[in-house]
Amino acid sequence: MTKTLLVRLSAAVLASFGAWMAYTQNPQTPPELKLEKITDDLYNISGDGGNVAAYLTNDGVIIIDDKFERDHADIVAKVKSISDKPIKYVLNTHQHGDHTGGNEKLLGSAEIIAHKNARANMVQGKMPGLPRVSFTDETEVFLGGKEVRAHYFGRGHTNGDAVIHFPALRVIHTGDLFVTGTPFIDYSAGGSAVEWTRTLDEVLKWDFDTVIPGHGAISKREDLVKWRNGFEAMRNRITSMVREGKIKDDVVKTLTGEFGWNANPNGLAMRSVDALIAELKR
Ligand SMILES: [Zn+2]
Repeated sequence: MTKTLLVRLSAAVLASFGAWMAYTQNPQTPPELKLEKITDDLYNISGDGGNVAAYLTNDGVIIIDDKFERDHADIVAKVKSISDKPIKYVLNTHQHGDHTGGNEKLLGSAEIIAHKNARANMVQGKMPGLPRVSFTDETEVFLGGKEVRAHYFGRGHTNGDAVIHFPALRVIHTGDLFVTGTPFIDYSAGGSAVEWTRTLDEVLKWDFDTVIPGHGAISKREDLVKWRNGFEAMRNRITSMVREGKIKDDVVKTLTGEFGWNANPNGLAMRSVDALIAELKR
């Protein structure tokens, strides 16, 4: 594929993804969010967009991701209910609008940090709320005597997924590198099914027990291992299918029937099947 064609193709996928985000960003009636305690100083805010972790310190609150713009007021209210300190830092796990939608409203009072590629993806998608700080391999935030690490382990959901570690708590937030449902390989943003499990293998070298997925219920290390193995089984199965020359319909049938992928033809999972086949054919 020529470079121009690839660029044009990426732009088209990005444009349709933008339309999806505009649809899901409908400002009417934001659903009510749910606050869950993980430890005395770490909470998860679930519902609507991606999971938002809130780490409380005596000098301020560090949050991971900030859902859609429409969830901003509820996120701030939930944080207020557990801390009298302001949100000082936001770490974005990646650029998608259900994880960075609140950025713009938080930029006036908080520092927002994302991986260099995630920020570049936001620039390319003309997304609001660009982080003022980016990193390549790893960055750490130290606040009120506590520490949070953000590390880039390689491609997977996108080419800029940061995995967040709360070392003192043995907890990680994976962003969408781990979701408790169908994975979405965002090829328009450099995602890769081939590299995804290698990236997770690096994550699993970290010391942790509890996992906050990008979407879904709080999980254990074993759940992440199981999901990673399921992903690998899916990839191996689809790789042999495409190498045997099976057509897209067969691949879709296998993904939905055997691997429980969301069959909605307009859903993100189904819209990534062509690019998945192309990647696995190589
Ligand atoms: Zn995502």
